[in-house]
Amino acid sequence: MDASGFTRLLKDKALSLGFDACGAAPAGALLREDAYLRQWLAAGNHAGLSYLERNVEKRSDVRLLVAGARSVFMLLLSYKPPVVQPAAVPQVACYAYGEDYHDAIRRKLNVLVDTVRAHYPHAQVRGFVDSAPVFEKAWAARAGLGWIGKNNLLVSPVFGSFVFLATLITSVELVYDEPLKNRCGRCARCMAACPTGALEAPRRLNAGKCISYQTKEHKGDITVPTCGYIFGCDLCQLHCPWNRAAPAHTHAELMPQPEILSYTAAGWLSLDEAQFDVIFARSPLQRVGLNKIQENVRKFLQV
Ligand code: SF4
Ligand code: SF4
Repeated sequence: MDASGFTRLLKDKALSLGFDACGAAPAGALLREDAYLRQWLAAGNHAGLSYLERNVEKRSDVRLLVAGARSVFMLLLSYKPPVVQPAAVPQVACYAYGEDYHDAIRRKLNVLVDTVRAHYPHAQVRGFVDSAPVFEKAWAARAGLGWIGKNNLLVSPVFGSFVFLATLITSVELVYDEPLKNRCGRCARCMAACPTGALEAPRRLNAGKCISYQTKEHKGDITVPTCGYIFGCDLCQLHCPWNRAAPAHTHAELMPQPEILSYTAAGWLSLDEAQFDVIFARSPLQRVGLNKIQENVRKFLQV
């Protein structure tokens, strides 16, 4: 099969598995992103997230991650929910409403990796969902899926920024998509909406000031106002006009857990570890654990 035929086959397979969009870009070094990351790290914007300091070379050139890589095939899955929490209850970022996306996406991605192997048994191919140092947003932009907005997220013209990204890197040559023009224009609503000033400049996030970092990664007392959130933060995305126009997702595994939609502060605080592990067994909330969530709920009650 030629590159064009196999690219079509891979894209059709991705869409049939439930991915909302996909695109391909030629593998290579990302020199601009490499320089930006090094400067961003040197300025301490990563708030001590040490995994970002590791493997910078590999992150900047996927050919160091997958020997002989020729193509980066990017996949997008929307998580804009069909229903949101009432405003008065402790807020959870909507990416965490349903099943942990790592698991939901991994199942689909493994099928695509197997598809490549079935057609090219000697090819190199690996799939990643936040599991390796990859500039996912930059690759998604190169693969024509959107642009990187001032909120520092990938913005799709169809699905907005409430999207998960996954990466398949292979030595197989594909037909490549054209990058899209950045369509933020003069809009800066995301920056104006950020209550902590974490978006210090277009595309420049100070992680230490971000509610999402503080409610999930930060050890010790939270140092910023959390504005109703106990896990993550969606405020900059909620103000993006591209998200208003985006359709709600239809992925069964990402549908909101009823407990997340309905729990009040008292509901969260009444949970013990055993109950939490049963009710949220497949949830991204497991990644921070009940203690941190209840600390955040107590902070929510102080405001
Ligand atoms: S997630 Fe929240 S705190 Fe972080 S940049 Fe966006 S609005 Fe600001
Ligand atoms: S809110 Fe405006 S500036 Fe921010 S990402 Fe969306 S379009 Fe771009």
